[in-house]
Amino acid sequence: MSAPISATLIPGDGIGPEIVDATLAAFDALGVSFNWDIQQAGLAGVKAAGDPLPPAVLDSIRRTRLALKGPLETPSGGGYRSSNVRLREEFKLYANVRPAKTMIPGGRFDNIDLMVYRENLEGLYMGYEHYIPMDGDPEAIAIATGVNTRQGSHRLLQYAFEHAIANGRKKIAVVHKANIMKALTGIFLDEARKMYKEKYEGKIEMQEVIIDACCMKLVINPWQFDCLVTTNLFGDILSDLVAGLIGGLGMAPGANIGQDAAIFEAVHGSAPDIAGKGIANPVALMLAAAMMLDHLKMHDKATRLRTSILDTFNVDNVRTGDLGGKANCKEFTAALVSRIRNG
Ligand code: NAD
Repeated sequence: MSAPISATLIPGDGIGPEIVDATLAAFDALGVSFNWDIQQAGLAGVKAAGDPLPPAVLDSIRRTRLALKGPLETPSGGGYRSSNVRLREEFKLYANVRPAKTMIPGGRFDNIDLMVYRENLEGLYMGYEHYIPMDGDPEAIAIATGVNTRQGSHRLLQYAFEHAIANGRKKIAVVHKANIMKALTGIFLDEARKMYKEKYEGKIEMQEVIIDACCMKLVINPWQFDCLVTTNLFGDILSDLVAGLIGGLGMAPGANIGQDAAIFEAVHGSAPDIAGKGIANPVALMLAAAMMLDHLKMHDKATRLRTSILDTFNVDNVRTGDLGGKANCKEFTAALVSRIRNG
């Protein structure tokens, strides 16, 4: 056993506690020991402390600079602002790294190995919105403001180029809508072009693709892409799209990386439709946990976790319902733990 590492653990809402427990069982089997500071946020935060992002959560991450997080519920329409967005802002987690890799061969799309780099702090996604009243209707006109900065684009693009090259990637596609949103996403494309010319030409190939065409191309021939780098809202949508290519949201992990902290989570949300049923697929969070181990330079443990998941799927044939299997979350986790322990 290695010495315990301090980290914040946010079980989250809906299926969060179930998949977090499963992930802790995997860590335990791997012999990785964390000194967890357990904190509640989202709806669980409202219930525990009357606040979707209690100050104790922020204090904890300020101290540990590392968190594993279950999904946090955000009400649609009215209600409180997303705690996920607030956490990203608070810790300036500017890079959202979302790999999508086939783990079960023979599906509709085979051999997918994509990487999505999403700008995490700017753009239309930030929810800078207001209404303008007209004709007695206080909410007659809705206005959203998107803000992309050259510095914010630069920071994310540099991270993406460096990460892609360091991981032996061959191509990176800059995904934009600069034909229509000439300023908002034009600044991102412009920065990418400049950066590529100055620093990365010859080291990796850069493609340019408009978001709508990119969605179509991903569904028709996803193998034409390697890495995708894009602004916040497009990255949000594209990462769910690529998750769909590899078996769904139960398979898609994400890392939120900043200068001073990193938060690892599944791409999916709290899945209220299956919460409490014990049938959630814990693999997305487990793969996020593997990214966390890589971040901590525990590459052998990360590899062991990924290999054990692959063997549980493809040698033991144990899968959860979303993947066409019969196992519930606990049964899948038990099979995985046995794989990790016994090889
Ligand atoms: P969702 O990702 O929770 O669910 C979409 C669909 O995928 C559902 O049918 C769900 O059952 C399925 N699914 C998701 N994860 C699964 C898993 N691990 N195993 C099996 N099936 C799974 O999206 P939603 O329903 O649009 O959002 C629900 C809530 O989650 C909202 O409040 C939203 O704001 C929040 N959310 C949070 C995060 C986050 O914390 N990072 C991300 C996305 C959505």
